[in-house]
Amino acid sequence: MCGIVGYVGRKSAKPILIEGLKRLEYRGYDSAGIAVVHDGRLHVCKSAGRITGLEERLDGNAEIQAGAVGVAHTRWATHGPPTEENAHPHTDCTGRIAVVHNGIIENYSALKQVLEDKGHTFGSDTDSEVLAHLISEFYRNDENDDNAPSERQVLRDNITGETPVPRPRDLARAVQQALREVAGTYGLAVVCADEPGMIIAARKGSPLIIGVGADEYIVASDASAIVEHTVNVIYLNDNEMAVMDETGLRTLTIDNVPVSKQVQQIEWSLEQIALGGFEHFMLKEIFEQPEALRNSCRGRLDLRENRIQLGGIAHLSRELVKTRRIVLTACGTAWHAGLIGEYLFEDLARIPTEVEYASEFRYRNPIIENHTVV
Ligand code: GLU
Repeated sequence: MCGIVGYVGRKSAKPILIEGLKRLEYRGYDSAGIAVVHDGRLHVCKSAGRITGLEERLDGNAEIQAGAVGVAHTRWATHGPPTEENAHPHTDCTGRIAVVHNGIIENYSALKQVLEDKGHTFGSDTDSEVLAHLISEFYRNDENDDNAPSERQVLRDNITGETPVPRPRDLARAVQQALREVAGTYGLAVVCADEPGMIIAARKGSPLIIGVGADEYIVASDASAIVEHTVNVIYLNDNEMAVMDETGLRTLTIDNVPVSKQVQQIEWSLEQIALGGFEHFMLKEIFEQPEALRNSCRGRLDLRENRIQLGGIAHLSRELVKTRRIVLTACGTAWHAGLIGEYLFEDLARIPTEVEYASEFRYRNPIIENHTVV
C-alpha cells in the first residue's frame, strides 16, 4: 500500500522524508518521489522502483537538501503504470503546487476534462494529478470564492473612493474548495511555493496522522514514520484537514468548521506499531484480510459498468491476452496467496500457473518462454 510523509519545521526536510518513506516500505509500493520548497521554488524528484533509486537521484541535489518543508510518497499504482511520470508528487501547470495522494479520485476523468477545457495540461495518467490542478485553479482564482467582497462592499468602496485591498490568496480555502468537488478517497498532503512555510493535510477514507514536535510537524499515513521524531500525535478523521505553518497547527473540516483535536501519545514501539496491536504478523495479516481485499478492489472493481480496471497494467492488456503460462513469485504469506492465485488462474482462465519462492527464483536460471507472464 502507498505511503505519505510530510514535514514542516526548521530541519532539512529531505532526510526526515526519506527515512519516513523507508519506514513505510513494508507496506509495498512501485515508485517514490519527493517535493521540497526552497528559496521560493518547488523542487521535485521522482523515480520508478525502489526508494534507494530515488536517493541516488537526490545525491548532490543541494536545493532539495536545503528545504525545510516538503512532502514525499510511495505509490501503489491504481491509475496509470508505475512510471516516473505517474509517481507522486504531482504538480500543477505552474510547478508551484505539489500534492501527494493516497486513494482514488473516482470522478477524475470528468474533473480532468473541465480542467483541460480551462487550459490545464496534464503530465501523467493518474487520477491524483487532478488534485494539483484543481487546487491550483481555486488558488489562482481565489477572488471568485464566496468570501469575496460583496456587491454592497464594492459599491461602498466606489463611493468612498477607497481602493479595495486585494484579499490574500488562501491555500487552505483552495484545498477545501477542491476537495468539495472530489468523489472518492484520499489521504493527501499539499505544499505550495507561494506559501513556503506551510503544509496542508486532509483525509477521507485513507489514514493520516500528524506528529506534533517542537517547532515542527510530521504528517504520515502510518505512525511508524513519526515515532522516531515524536510520540505526540493528532489523528485526523474523515473530512478533516490540518493546516500547519510557523504560527502553529489548525484543524478544521473540509466545510471550514474549526475542530479542536486532542494531542495523544503513542505508547507503542516501532515494532509494535508495525504489528498494529497483534501478537505476531500472521495474526495481523489474517485480521487485515477484509480491509486488504477492500483496498485491493477499491477503484478497480466497477460494479455499475460490470468492469475490472487494473490501471497499473492496462497498457499491457494486448500482451496479456497472449499469455500461455503464469509464474507467481512470492515469499511467506504472499506465497500462500499465490497458491490461491494458481487455483483461480487455472480454473477460470485455464492458463497453466505455478508459484515459486521469490527468494530462490532470483538465483536460478529459469526457463521463461515467450508469452510467459512472471
Ligand atoms: N490513485 C493514485 C495513483 O494511481 C494513488 C495510488 C496510491 O494510493 O498510491 O497514482
